[in-house]
Amino acid sequence: MGKDDLIKSLQEKNDRLEKLCLAKTDIVSISAHQIRTSLSASRWIIKMFLDGDLGELTAEQENLMKRAYEDNVRAIEIVSELLLANKTEDTEEKKYNLEEFDIIELINDSIFDFSGETYSHEEEIIFLKPETKFPMIYADKEKIRIVLQNLIENAIKYSNKKGKIFIAIKEENGFAEVSIKDTGIGISEEGKAKIFERFYRDPEAKKKEATGTGIGLFTTKKIIENHNGKIWFESKQNQGTTFFFTIPQKSAQIPCTNTL
Ligand code: ADP
Repeated sequence: MGKDDLIKSLQEKNDRLEKLCLAKTDIVSISAHQIRTSLSASRWIIKMFLDGDLGELTAEQENLMKRAYEDNVRAIEIVSELLLANKTEDTEEKKYNLEEFDIIELINDSIFDFSGETYSHEEEIIFLKPETKFPMIYADKEKIRIVLQNLIENAIKYSNKKGKIFIAIKEENGFAEVSIKDTGIGISEEGKAKIFERFYRDPEAKKKEATGTGIGLFTTKKIIENHNGKIWFESKQNQGTTFFFTIPQKSAQIPCTNTL
C-alpha cells in the first residue's frame, strides 16, 4: 500500500472511530438519565415507607428498607459519576442531530418520567398547554430531553413537600419559550451569579439534597446556547425559582453551531 492509500485508510478508520465514540456517549447519557430517574423514583417510595407515611414498619421491615435505601443512594451516586464522566466527554466537539419534533409531546413524556418522584414527594406538575396547535421545533430532541429532565428534576428536588411546579410554553419571534416554575427554596444571592458554573451548588441546596453534581445546569446552558437559544431564571429565596429557555421553531431555520 502506498503512502497516500495508507493515510486515506487511517483517516477513514479515524472517522469511523469518532462516529462510534459519539454514538456511545449518547447511549450512555440517555441510559444513565433514565436509570437515574427510575432509581430516584424508587428512592422516594422507599423513603415514604421509612418515614412511616404508609403505616408503621416492624423492626425487620425497617431494617430491610434501610438497606434498600442505602443501596439505592449508592447506585444513584454511581450513575451520577457515570454521567459526570460522560458529560466531560460530551463537552468535546460534537455533532447535533437536528430534527423537527413536537415539543408538547416531549414535555408530556418528561413529566411522565418523573411521576414516581412527584407522587412520593407529594408535588404536582401542572402543564399549562397552549390552546392551539404549537409549531414544531427544530433541534436535537435527545439533547432537549436532557434539558427538560435537568430542569424538572431540579424543580422537584429543590421544592418542599406538596409544592406545585408549573410548566408553560409560548411563541416568541420564531422561538419556543419554555418556563418551569417552582415554589421551592430559591437561589441565594451568591448562587445567582454562579449556578451555571460547572460543579457549583448552593449551600442550602446541598443541605436539602446531598446527592448532586452541580453539572446539570452547566450542560443545560451549553445545549441551549448551541441551539442559539437563551436560558435565564428569576428566583427569590424561600419563594421559588422559574427557569426560562428558548429553542428555535422549524420556521426560524436558525443554524445550530453543532458543538456542545
Ligand atoms: P445539582 O442539582 O446536581 O446540584 P445543577 O447543575 O442542576 O446541579 O444545579 C446547580 C445548582 O443550582 C444546584 O445545586 C442548586 O444550588 C441550584 N439550583 C438549580 N435549580 C434550582 C431550583 N429549581 N431551585 C433552587 N436552586 C436550584
